[in-house]
Amino acid sequence: MPVISEVAPGSPGDRAGLKVGDAIELIEGVAPLDVIEYQQLADRQSPELVIRRGAAPIARRITVEKELGEPLGIRVDSAVFDKIRTCDNHCEFCFIYQLPKGLRKSLYLKDDDYRLSFLYGNFTTLTRFTELDAERVIDERLSPLYVSIHATDPELRAAMLRNARGATSLRWLDVLLDAGIEIHGQVVVCPEVNDGAQLERTLADTIDRFDRLATVGVVPLGTSDHSNEPNMRPHTAAEAARVLDVVERWGDASIAALGKRRIFASDEFYLVAGRDLPPQAFYEGFAQLENGIGMARALEAEFLGVDPGTDALKGGGFFHSVDGAPPWGYRATRASLDEQGSDAPIILTGEYGSAVLTDLFRRHRAPDIEVLAVKNHFFGGNTAVTGLLCGGDLAAAMKARGAGRYVLPDVCLSEGRFLDGLTTSDLPYGVEVVETSGVTLRRLVDHEVARRAVAT
Ligand code: SF4
Repeated sequence: MPVISEVAPGSPGDRAGLKVGDAIELIEGVAPLDVIEYQQLADRQSPELVIRRGAAPIARRITVEKELGEPLGIRVDSAVFDKIRTCDNHCEFCFIYQLPKGLRKSLYLKDDDYRLSFLYGNFTTLTRFTELDAERVIDERLSPLYVSIHATDPELRAAMLRNARGATSLRWLDVLLDAGIEIHGQVVVCPEVNDGAQLERTLADTIDRFDRLATVGVVPLGTSDHSNEPNMRPHTAAEAARVLDVVERWGDASIAALGKRRIFASDEFYLVAGRDLPPQAFYEGFAQLENGIGMARALEAEFLGVDPGTDALKGGGFFHSVDGAPPWGYRATRASLDEQGSDAPIILTGEYGSAVLTDLFRRHRAPDIEVLAVKNHFFGGNTAVTGLLCGGDLAAAMKARGAGRYVLPDVCLSEGRFLDGLTTSDLPYGVEVVETSGVTLRRLVDHEVARRAVAT
């Protein structure tokens, strides 16, 4: 049952006497299975709720007087009330299998649930998708959804997912696209598995058979030192460059055939290949920003005060949805830069973030702000994104650098904790946790310019 985690003072829910901790058994006679169904029921005019309060043996009926579509003014503690549908695949490249032991349980959850795809943008392989799910998605227009394609060769897809259903589950993609559902696809490229001719075939199919896919994001596999898969390894610079050639060529073909690029490689491929990132206009609205596609250019646009044509950078990475779930909103709330210290800032970031920021400051003649690239020893492998930085590695880097005014992007934290369970109070020096955005970066730079002017 959904449990109330917040009641807005003066709201219809508050006036009706709903309290934090109340478990909602029924709304309008229905036990909602997830927050999507809950929302539809709660939107009705003056809905009747059956709630359980504390250990009381008898349920209470409460009618919340309100207009049609007016919010109840309450939040509930999770997004899926029955059970998150877990995945039945065993992908060689799965990062969850590469996690060290002993982390918090929620990080090991392998979800493959279209509802989380709709709510959070998680990718689903559709191997557990059913006729009933398709009916619901189409009837309720649960759009957009995010689908992991990886390969369109049925045998290869089944082998990559280690699941026979991987060979046939893309038929659901046809069904959903035929019904007009907006879908963004993803291809995780593993060297010598689905690159080369297989990648050519997959991307050709996204223009031909799946021409109604809104976008296709091509991202490299992530590897950690805890992997047990001998065939999984990071891309070399030359391999990354070859992937980029294929992706950009099929992007050009998509423009010629469909009038839009639609097919993009992640920033990581450009960084590994040592190539310049494409300009902002290339990304056609940054639909796969959270998949690391166009992040550097969106950050730059925000930094320059140009509208990137998308929401502010949400950052996050794929662990975000696990802990960023309600009651705090479907995305964890972000910190803001309220007060700035009187010393020069030191920006803590991952190795990729450091490359991006250093280039950004150089090209836009921003003052030389110190960027401390923190190596990710906790996961090892090719893990270099800021969102996966852990407290232990940050602490070691700060100790080695010494005291200073440290600034930490909030993308490293989920509910105040790093992935290794540490918090900012475990770090050797204080940190200002700031929103991961170009706007924040601009404010930091402007403040630093003013600070230096005063100092001289
Ligand atoms: S589908 Fe996703 S969660 Fe499931 S095994 Fe593959 S990579 Fe892991």
